[in-house]
Amino acid sequence: MKLIRFGNPGEEKPGLQLDDGRRIDASAFGSDYDEKFFGGDGLERLAAWAKATAASAPTVDASTRLGPCIARPSKIICIGLNYSDHAKESGMPIPAEPIVFFKATSAIVGPNDNVVIPRNSKKTDWEVELAFVIGKKASYVSEDDAMSHVAGYCVHNDYSEREWQLERGGQWVKGKSCDTFAPIGPFLATSDEIPDPQNLKLWLKLNGKTIQNSSTAQMIFGVKTLVSYLSQFMSLLPGDLITTGTPPGVGLGFKPDPLFMKPGDVIELGVEGLGEQGQTAVTWQ
Ligand code: ZN
Repeated sequence: MKLIRFGNPGEEKPGLQLDDGRRIDASAFGSDYDEKFFGGDGLERLAAWAKATAASAPTVDASTRLGPCIARPSKIICIGLNYSDHAKESGMPIPAEPIVFFKATSAIVGPNDNVVIPRNSKKTDWEVELAFVIGKKASYVSEDDAMSHVAGYCVHNDYSEREWQLERGGQWVKGKSCDTFAPIGPFLATSDEIPDPQNLKLWLKLNGKTIQNSSTAQMIFGVKTLVSYLSQFMSLLPGDLITTGTPPGVGLGFKPDPLFMKPGDVIELGVEGLGEQGQTAVTWQ
């Protein structure tokens, strides 16, 4: 299944994108895609509902705004420098253990919403990433059991303000949490649709030019390892979003000079099997 949410910001309703591309309103199912939904048997109940109802459910017009594909989670956990080539372009050593940081959940927006260059930002940058959502609480989970805790996958653009992330002291969270810095979607594909998350192409274009182009096969720590690893330090709750790091091609790594975003820039990105996003950069008002 492909789960979508649609409507005005803060008023999104749940829906589904069907195999034929039609988007349907799943409000009648009666639950948003939140912690309670994922932690219960929400996906199974939704599948049963869809089987019985999808054909006759109201269609969501193609012009309707897509919201983030899940309701606001308890946390967003990010993995840094998880592609060896990206670590190299950032001038950092290949990590011996996953680099873990947080991103504020208030940064979440829909997949095609504008990205706001924050006030006084000079170094706003992009990062196409494979993200996954927890389906079952994970605490001290083994790698063998890890994948049974994953509900599904989506595209995430881990927008980053590099000066605030790297030059202002303290933790990366400051440069990762601005409003609109976490577009997710267009849909959450359930795990059955992505049998091997470690073999997906992912790409990003800036103003029509491809600048990130890689495969999740290049990841240092894969999804299975990350679920198990993170669960040794904290409980991963149903609905939590974990984003797995970005391949080379971010603006920070451009030679001879880094390249950062300006108003009017158009970013398009996608992950194989998970659809595409597009954002236009606007000035903070
Ligand atoms: Zn990232």
